[in-house]
Amino acid sequence: MTAKKGFLLLLIAALVAAFFLFDLGQYLSLDYLKSQQAAFQELAGEHPLRVLGGFFVLYVLVTALSLPGAAILTLAAGALFGFWWALLLVSFASSLGATLAFLASRFLFQDAVQQRFGERLKKINAGVEKDGAFYLFTLRLIPVFPFFVINLLMGLTPIRTGTFYWVSQLGMLAGTAVYVNAGTQLGQLESLSGILSPGLIGAFALLGLFPWLARLPVRLWQTRRIYQGYQKPRHFDRNLVVIGGGSAGLVSAYIGATVKAKVTLVEQQRMGGDCLNTGCVPSKALLKSARIAHLEKQAHHYGFRSIANEFDFSDIMARVQRVISKVEPHDSVERYTGLGVECLHGHARLISPWEVEVDNSTEGNEGTIRLTTRSVILATGASPLVPPIPGIDQVRALTSDTLWELTALPERLLVLGGGPIGCELAQAFSRLGSQVTQVEMQSRLMPREDEDAAASVTAALEDSGVRVLTEHKALRFSVENGTSQLHVEHRDQESVLPFDAVLVAVGRRAHTEGLGLSALGITTRANGTIEVNERLQTRFPNIYACGDVAGPYQFTHTAAHQAWYAAVNALFGRLKSFKVDYRVIPWATFTSPEVARVGLNEDDARQQGIPYEVTKYGIDDLDRAIADGVDQGFVKVLTEPGKDRILGVTIVGESAAELISEYVLAMKHGLGLNKILGTIHIYPTLSEANKYAAGEWKKNHKPERLLRWVERFHAWQR
Ligand SMILES: Cc1cc2nc3c(=O)[nH]c(=O)nc-3n(C[C@H](O)[C@H](O)[C@H](O)COP(=O)(O)OP(=O)(O)OC[C@H]3O[C@@H](n4cnc5c(N)ncnc54)[C@H](O)[C@@H]3O)c2cc1C
Repeated sequence: MTAKKGFLLLLIAALVAAFFLFDLGQYLSLDYLKSQQAAFQELAGEHPLRVLGGFFVLYVLVTALSLPGAAILTLAAGALFGFWWALLLVSFASSLGATLAFLASRFLFQDAVQQRFGERLKKINAGVEKDGAFYLFTLRLIPVFPFFVINLLMGLTPIRTGTFYWVSQLGMLAGTAVYVNAGTQLGQLESLSGILSPGLIGAFALLGLFPWLARLPVRLWQTRRIYQGYQKPRHFDRNLVVIGGGSAGLVSAYIGATVKAKVTLVEQQRMGGDCLNTGCVPSKALLKSARIAHLEKQAHHYGFRSIANEFDFSDIMARVQRVISKVEPHDSVERYTGLGVECLHGHARLISPWEVEVDNSTEGNEGTIRLTTRSVILATGASPLVPPIPGIDQVRALTSDTLWELTALPERLLVLGGGPIGCELAQAFSRLGSQVTQVEMQSRLMPREDEDAAASVTAALEDSGVRVLTEHKALRFSVENGTSQLHVEHRDQESVLPFDAVLVAVGRRAHTEGLGLSALGITTRANGTIEVNERLQTRFPNIYACGDVAGPYQFTHTAAHQAWYAAVNALFGRLKSFKVDYRVIPWATFTSPEVARVGLNEDDARQQGIPYEVTKYGIDDLDRAIADGVDQGFVKVLTEPGKDRILGVTIVGESAAELISEYVLAMKHGLGLNKILGTIHIYPTLSEANKYAAGEWKKNHKPERLLRWVERFHAWQR
């Protein structure tokens, strides 16, 4: 604490202590006021200005120091100066005093509180920044909330001082008028409860409700303004048009059809989107083949001298396509048509908030068609980001979109990017026999995960034969004597990496081109995703976005999760709408070992200033993992210090993505480690690791004192 803060705190403490020590509160009671009413009135008659000024200063002091007595002073003002003068005086004095208390609280405590609870206060801060004046106005109107508490708490929030002042003055005006008016009747009042009669409290509560009720017409007016200039169709052909037939779009359409809405789904390429055609499904199929190829190198661990490992890469890629074909019916036009969804093939574009144009002229059909709809869901996904590195167009740059067309294994594969997609594919190609070099600009692979998890993946990749180059910046591509190469910079040293093919996996950009967004003023964020609110609405309340195109996550399961909210809000939002629940979101990277996570990791907790305890269980100790030869990795659980509340879990190891589900369930339903420990897990399984991690936590929290007594009990029993 700085000297200035210390001094102010001391001064306030001394003044408040003096108030109570000298029992000054006795002069701020109704009895005293009534007994001295005549004398005060005489004084005010003789020296009106001095009395007015003195009273003003006294009032400001009492409210600024949050002393009890402001209500009595308000009554006194009414009795002494009459209604209008008293209202003027008290209105300004109370607002000034409240603002001083607010400023003192802000000066003394705001930094410390925001630093300590910053992350947890994020939502409140955002709410206050957006609607702070509105909340304050409501609080001021309802006298059941103590004024001094509001002053002090508001000081801790980011509300502006000027806003605080004027909203306080305006909000307190009605209450001040009631008290001042009561003061003019002071002669007949016997106690403060006379003022706070149930009828009067009811009237105040109603006043408090007023701003909330006032929101409705304000919202209606805002909505009208947004839609101004667009002709709303009298009738709609459909309830819902979904643009994009990937994970997000399919689930949206499915929900719409299930609840008997008339739904049209438009897909311009292949149903199933990225996940089925170029993402999760082919990558996992390839990883499985790569795993089997890797078994050759591991054969001796399992008692084999060798395992024949003959394959042709084209057969492996053919299997990948067979896997896609086998999953395809789940996402097919036939299935969705059977569910009651109208499926159209073509490029869709927004024409107005209620009209979508579909260009299906490529089909040899009638060209473009226009659909009218009450709601639209944009689920157009994302595409691999290809950075504008000089010379990139001269080399064979593959992305996760084009990689699946390969029929021959590149001898030297360069993987640009150390995120989950880059790591999974680098390991797969390396295990299949490519010489893989992976280049990452940051200091480690998988920068979203904790250092220990990233280190495990790096070690596994290197073990698979990948040359991992971190802190390497891609400068330019070139072709020298027919050899493609990447020029990289590492600690001011430039070097050259030759390759036969380069896989660019440096991130994914939301797919928004050609959707008609800018004509409608639908905005995107800096990272390219469509700007939506917590209910997934764009600036037009009937146009929603979900999945990769909306972010913030880019996974199939989060796309499906959001799709539920988008579809339900789009179809029923006029009756009831829901904010997306992002509290327990799991994800995994499917390298060997896998890395799975739910909730916070240590990096997140530190950045957000959230205190945590770590419990770590090493999977190298787990019977089943030893038997299977996969005894690597760990289960790391973050808990609230001293409490059985799970904040987050990272699992590194074989089948980590499956194991984490138990913790996802626990976190979702508020179950702690005691509950996991008390659950029977089959022996010998990998899932026992979850229970052993809970056991570690329990060991670290055993009741030492009680155990000492138990020890004595046993000694006595002997
Ligand atoms: C290599 C790789 C591996 C992955 N692995 C996993 C994984 O293991 N687990 C996981 O959860 N996630 C994984 N993902 C991410 C996952 O694939 C995406 O998060 C998911 O596909 C997003 O679904 P979506 O519906 O938002 O978008 P998409 O699946 O991209 O679907 C969008 C669809 O919209 C269509 N479209 C776009 N514009 C228009 C238009 N104007 N008119 C009509 N149609 C349009 C597109 O053609 C596309 O089919 C992986 C991604 C990649 C690239």
